[in-house]
Amino acid sequence: MSIALALTLALAGSGTALTHPQPGDESATAHFLANEAVMVTAGETKILFDPLFTHSYGYPLVAPDTKARLMAGEGEFAGVDAVLVSHVHGDHFDAPEMNAYLAAHPEVILVAPHQARLDMQADAGWQPDFAERMRILPFVAQPQDLVIAADGDSAAISIEAVYIPHAGGPGRAHIQNMVYRVTLNGEATVMHLGDATPDPSAYAPHAGHFQEETTHNAFPPYWLIERWGGDTVRETLNADHVTGIHVPINTPISVRASREDFFTEAGETRDVHGHE
Ligand SMILES: [Zn+2]
Ligand SMILES: [Zn+2]
Repeated sequence: MSIALALTLALAGSGTALTHPQPGDESATAHFLANEAVMVTAGETKILFDPLFTHSYGYPLVAPDTKARLMAGEGEFAGVDAVLVSHVHGDHFDAPEMNAYLAAHPEVILVAPHQARLDMQADAGWQPDFAERMRILPFVAQPQDLVIAADGDSAAISIEAVYIPHAGGPGRAHIQNMVYRVTLNGEATVMHLGDATPDPSAYAPHAGHFQEETTHNAFPPYWLIERWGGDTVRETLNADHVTGIHVPINTPISVRASREDFFTEAGETRDVHGHE
């Protein structure tokens, strides 16, 4: 069973049929920034995964001009509804930058593990009123559900989050790595896995969670595809399509030789849709 954390924000007016495309009118799109930073748009709904980070550790950073537009909310980053953080490692999350971003964008909701809130509170840029816009996930084993309103739709962003341990074994067990399955506008479902472990035993207890809803496009770290093969990744996650992320700057031979799909170049996009 999921913990119900249904959070409904005040709606600005009604008439969603007028402001939102009808199902099928417009496909959702995933845009790659760098490392595990992915933006997903569907109609007017726009979310960002792991967009603000400052450490490379051998993985690509967001280009400075892209980072500037992101922080300013300009160009492709205008109208962001929610930011989702997988975990607090420096190649996924930066507390000062996240505080600055929330200060600059009072309409944006942040979904993040509890550890991210602790880091943000410890930073000089923290403002207590950020808490009202943060959906903080406790470090628990069972799946957690969230619903976030956006653009006049009370259920524009539907999130099912589950803790899957970080890759690297017991030494990383203290890191709260969240795997997000997100449905935008009831149409397009994506999954972002952060730095999820390739240990199959971490997924088995959550087989029901993964099987209860099909994901149109999942974005696992590349090592999941490397270790399991694409078919097993798609089966385990119940995903129609998988696109590997977190590919090092020096692209591994396993990725270059693979027939599977990966995001390696900033600006790459994928259409997100079901396979009927
Ligand atoms: Zn990590
Ligand atoms: Zn990482």
